[in-house]
Amino acid sequence: MKIGTIASHSALNIISGAKAEGFDTLLYCPQNRVKFYQSFGLDDSIVEIESFDDILKMDLSEVVLIPHGSFVAHIGAQKILKSDLKIFGSKELLKWESNRDLKTKLLKEAGFAVPREFLDFGEIDCPVIAKTNGAAGGDGYFIAESASEIEKMMNPDLQYTFQEFVVGTKVFVTYFQSMAKERTEVFGADIRYETDADSNLRFNERPSFVVVGNVPLVLRESILAKYYDMGVAFVNAFHKLAQQKMVGPFCIETIIDKNKQIYSFEFSGRIVAGTNVWIPSSPYSYVQFGEPMWMGRRIAIEIRELVEQERLDQALG
Ligand code: AMP
Ligand code: AMP
Repeated sequence: MKIGTIASHSALNIISGAKAEGFDTLLYCPQNRVKFYQSFGLDDSIVEIESFDDILKMDLSEVVLIPHGSFVAHIGAQKILKSDLKIFGSKELLKWESNRDLKTKLLKEAGFAVPREFLDFGEIDCPVIAKTNGAAGGDGYFIAESASEIEKMMNPDLQYTFQEFVVGTKVFVTYFQSMAKERTEVFGADIRYETDADSNLRFNERPSFVVVGNVPLVLRESILAKYYDMGVAFVNAFHKLAQQKMVGPFCIETIIDKNKQIYSFEFSGRIVAGTNVWIPSSPYSYVQFGEPMWMGRRIAIEIRELVEQERLDQALG
């Protein structure tokens, strides 16, 4: 059995972790990125492809694929859900992640405060962030103070969701849900750095939210304790609503306001690029394991332990 992924997003994290645990690895790589990945010494992993969705046509019965942000962005949730690819983690959770109604339902079931959402213009009574549906990485988002302002700023060809704009600090916390060890691990925290919302150099007071990278964040320990509880609550809520066990990395995306109220506006049911800041280790994963532990390696260890327990099947969507 081999571990594979597509060459983007958190591929360096995933492939280096699988190699560190002794797995054979496969990195499905479009031609224009081959040199880049070769420069990290990954020649023996690279499989050249024309486009990312070529993997839907290949025989990957011996490969456990680790899904990341590019799977949904470049291939599409529906195609992945219908495929018989062996995806580590829950395909069901990917489904909940890619549907706004299901997503909100799960966040609420977990007991989290979520920003109000407006389906109808007439209901808007506070500043909002307008999110283009389906797009990823904050493309096309804007903020507006009122319904009439939104009408002026909207692109009529796009569909939007309007959410109460929460003023505060972005905090993205990543977790690992271990089936083999039956525990929830808080893995690390980061801030998604967005242009130009996070830039002080601007003339325009209406920022855009296009993600360019991530910066590491170490939380106040009292706040971290709250996030641990949130992670456990999230896992339990998924279990209850989807009647399935969760396994693998996930992320809860939040904003903390000045009253220390935590609002959750999103989650990801897979590895997020924010974990890239924690190679070779986050403070929390180091304390937990007593040695460098990054998300790619953590995933590989889980796969090996589940193979040893003869229940890897339960962890493949
Ligand atoms: P890429 O292959 O880098 O173009 O990214 C693929 C998908 O993952 C796109 O939808 C990106 O918006 C998203 N993505 C990439 N890097 C990050 C990041 N650091 N944080 C959040 N999303 C990201
Ligand atoms: P999303 O696509 O939902 O992950 O959001 C992308 C970015 O938009 C986030 O990283 C935040 O900077 C911003 N954002 C999303 N939702 C809200 C909200 N309800 N209030 C304020 N900012 C938000």
